[in-house]
Amino acid sequence: MVTPRVGVLALQGDVREHQRILTDLGAHAPRVRTPDDLAAVDALVIPGGESTTIARLAVALDMLEPLTTAVRSGMPVYGSCAGMILLADRLVDAPPDQVTVGGLHVTVRRNAFGRQVHSFEADLDVAGISPPPVRAVFIRAPWVETVEPDVAVLARISGPDADGTIVAVEQGPLLATSFHPELTGDVRMHRHFLRLVRSA
Ligand code: GLN
Repeated sequence: MVTPRVGVLALQGDVREHQRILTDLGAHAPRVRTPDDLAAVDALVIPGGESTTIARLAVALDMLEPLTTAVRSGMPVYGSCAGMILLADRLVDAPPDQVTVGGLHVTVRRNAFGRQVHSFEADLDVAGISPPPVRAVFIRAPWVETVEPDVAVLARISGPDADGTIVAVEQGPLLATSFHPELTGDVRMHRHFLRLVRSA
């Protein structure tokens, strides 16, 4: 795979920011909106946005099942924020009818940092990423409440609402972060994902 094709799911959310970083890092980063688009990429980013909206659109556009099948068959996928919610096998504090793509063996709590705390930033040590710490932007962010044994915890955060709470995980070719690395100009999370893509 000389130039990996890393699609960005473009149903809703901050699609363009991910495309720009992936392109800067030497990948092809087409928008993915249809099953045919999905079939034409090696890997996928599910961006932040509003997970209820992305899930509803995925169902309406017949994308949910192809996405689930792609994850099951080993496609590398990076989910950021709402994307993490979409990858989770189980949700807490979500509408009862909210569906997910699933495949990531975790329970994720939506809007976990308190309703009043809409956004904040923090410096995070992320396993597999050399110092300095990653500047992480959290926007009405989820956190990972529980993980199964096959999930590696990459980063935790502590603070008023969180004490060692999990905010980044990896499970084989799946990567998920509660935060938005695409908003800071720090390309290291995406570079890390491209390493997963190349070794998949
Ligand atoms: N709170 C949003 C949701 O549940 C996620 C926010 C984000 O992606 N920045 O989908």
